[in-house]
Amino acid sequence: MQRKIRKAAVIGSGIMGSGIAAYLASAGIPTFLLDIVPSTLSDDEKKQGLTLDSPKVRNKLAVSAVNEMVKKKPCPFFSIEDQQWITPGNIEDHLPKLAEVDWIIEAVAENLEVKRKLFSKLQACWKVGTIVSTNTSGISIDEMAEECSTEFKRHFLGTHFFNPPRYMKLLEIIPGEKTDPQIVSFLQEFATKRLGKGVVLAKDTPNFIANRIGVYGLLITMQEMLKRKMTIEEVDELTGPIIGRPKSATFRTLDMVGLDTFASVAANVKGKLSDPMEKKTFDLPDFLQEMCAKQLLGTKTGKGFYMKDRKSKQIYTLDYQTLQYRERKKPFFSTMTQGKNLKERLQSLMNSSNDADQFLWQTIKRTLLYSANCIPEIADDIVAVDQAMKWGFNWELGPFEMWDSIGVEQSVAKMKEEGERIPKLVSLLLESGKTSFYEDKQNVYFSISGKYLPAQQTGERINLQKLKSDQKVIKSNSGATLLDLGDDVACVELHSPHDAIGPDIIRMMNLALDEVSRNYQGLVIASESRNFCVGANLMMILMEAQDENWAQIEQLVGAFQGLSTAMKYYEKPIVAAPFGMTLGGGTEICLPASRIQASAESYMGLVEVGAGLIPAGGGCKELLLRHIEEVDKDGKIDLQPFVQRTFETIALAKVSTSAKDAVNMGYLRTCDGISMNRDFQIYQAKQAVLAMLQAGYQPRQAKKIRVVGEPGLAALKLGIYQMKCSGYISEHDEKIAKKLAHVLCGGDIQANSYVTESYLLDLEREAFLSLCGEPKTRQRMQHLLVQGKPLRN
Ligand code: NAD
Repeated sequence: MQRKIRKAAVIGSGIMGSGIAAYLASAGIPTFLLDIVPSTLSDDEKKQGLTLDSPKVRNKLAVSAVNEMVKKKPCPFFSIEDQQWITPGNIEDHLPKLAEVDWIIEAVAENLEVKRKLFSKLQACWKVGTIVSTNTSGISIDEMAEECSTEFKRHFLGTHFFNPPRYMKLLEIIPGEKTDPQIVSFLQEFATKRLGKGVVLAKDTPNFIANRIGVYGLLITMQEMLKRKMTIEEVDELTGPIIGRPKSATFRTLDMVGLDTFASVAANVKGKLSDPMEKKTFDLPDFLQEMCAKQLLGTKTGKGFYMKDRKSKQIYTLDYQTLQYRERKKPFFSTMTQGKNLKERLQSLMNSSNDADQFLWQTIKRTLLYSANCIPEIADDIVAVDQAMKWGFNWELGPFEMWDSIGVEQSVAKMKEEGERIPKLVSLLLESGKTSFYEDKQNVYFSISGKYLPAQQTGERINLQKLKSDQKVIKSNSGATLLDLGDDVACVELHSPHDAIGPDIIRMMNLALDEVSRNYQGLVIASESRNFCVGANLMMILMEAQDENWAQIEQLVGAFQGLSTAMKYYEKPIVAAPFGMTLGGGTEICLPASRIQASAESYMGLVEVGAGLIPAGGGCKELLLRHIEEVDKDGKIDLQPFVQRTFETIALAKVSTSAKDAVNMGYLRTCDGISMNRDFQIYQAKQAVLAMLQAGYQPRQAKKIRVVGEPGLAALKLGIYQMKCSGYISEHDEKIAKKLAHVLCGGDIQANSYVTESYLLDLEREAFLSLCGEPKTRQRMQHLLVQGKPLRN
């Protein structure tokens, strides 16, 4: 039987249920969202004459969950319109609807009895073939389904999404004893490809993988803090990015999770453990129990380890000894754990006598030992544990990757000196004469069988770093590398130090066009950095502007424009693969490609006005074309509204909140592809090149462009003037906006004139250069470079 998920249902519209429904809807899957029927009426409902039988009352929990999600920031939907795919309802009136769906996800309260009752109710309307999963944080899958039929159990498993479901990559899939293995592998594939999740197969053990290790890590951090009488700020300073963990570190993470949730998750493991020592580590510290009793639960009650004063917006910190809030104290550590990069910092910890380093060494050491001791109980291999912690807790390195970075041999010697018992897996590794959990650029990992096994890689995942070690580099410089992807497709990998485009990238792109012309059939533009590209090298432009090297700036801009034109009319297909921040020049390098294969999480925008400039690498022209080319078929339609839209998008530096949003904004075309899972994006971009070739790729032909000319410009200028008069924009904003309007309207020219692309590029370049000469633009550039945010001057 060929399985499909055409429709789904989520039961429970709380934090997780609503987030999961929004994510399914964003992936284009129509989803019912059901919750309980309220048992009482509010005063407002009574006034409106509603009764407990009114659908408005009966569906209100799920309806208000959808309404809340639309307002949430960051948004749980890719695009607000995706809410149309959610049908809110309730579990009294709408259970028969479940006969229409292929997947039911339970996300009700974390309580075994509540969940069991729900499943017995569900069984009555469930049809064979429909998958049922629970989003429990750690309750046993088998216990939950104990009273269900064997057939139901075959279709039942755990699917543990992390919060928030759109942004957290991890999905733990937990088969029960009776779950049909085909359902497990189907869901694994579906969640990976269609939902873009990082799937880790977990066992039905308390709290599965990520929460088991994560909760342990948080608890021992608190224990070490108490021992050393450290403050909340000190712990957060040390347990964040310094050791490759997210900025929310320990206590901001706990505030976000909710202390009551954390307490129940910890209690769940504790109740199931048999080893008394291990059990003890899951005891909640007294202060945390008191915090729960006092409802200091974190963000959900407005007070936790931190508290934001609503009026003054000031943040106060909890003194955990008195449970009173006090002003925040900036922690200062003389060492800041010496060493430049994460690896060096981690290595320096174990031999340092400094208090801060010792605190870190003890917490990290205990986490590493615990992780190794949990294998094979919670997972069969180290890869699952590392991935779970990276995808579920945003750790830069999983525990075993971290251990490799620290040095297994040296750290184990130190641990032995400190009286630690070394886990079997680690002893096995060292006894076999090996010194790291991973080898061959993480392509193989050390398994409990005592051998290295291939870390699961599908052919659909292209890893550029691996290609480099496989001698697939054609050319390379400081900003980019040209690689051979196989099947006659080449790839330019962008990797400049600050993800910015400079002359090195332009040079490499030109070399690539040359090389592909001779020896390849098509080109992909990709990156494996944190972001695709955050813009042009502003520092270089600022320096040239300060030295009044106008000719140099003109040459730089001209080179970018030349590249963009060469890409647009290139003889062979080019596919750009943006993801994450794709700003300014980053967007401009994508726009002329034959196709874009964007990651679902692409934040695209022509944001140059923030630096006091306008896009001049072809960005104004290309976005304008994207808005008008589809509508201007006969040369008769009024183009002004489309020019206005382009103008607003650039003048307000609008950035898409997803690839879907980028389609709405015009940065992407509907023919462009969206990769739900970034792991497959480069492969999919390569496939897009091959598909275009197979379909008989025809290079584009240059066409003249109809522009709105002087009357359109006058209309835009009037709008700008009104914005200025009403105080919305500054004098300098007005100047930039007028220059932008001038370019988009085709300059001082008669309405409906036809111009060439190079004419519009000239206008872009002139405007850019003249803005570089403005002191206020230079102030903006400097501010952006120093402060990392735009200046409104
Ligand atoms: P929540 O309290 O925000 O929401 C629970 C929802 O379920 C409420 O809307 C409630 O009205 C509804 N509900 C309760 N009983 C119901 C029933 N019998 N039928 C239908 N709806 C019912 O809880 P949450 O944080 O969304 O957690 C839901 C599940 O997801 C739990 O199992 C939790 O452990 C798990 N989880 C939570 C997080 C998290 O960070 N909050 C993360 C991962 C997993």
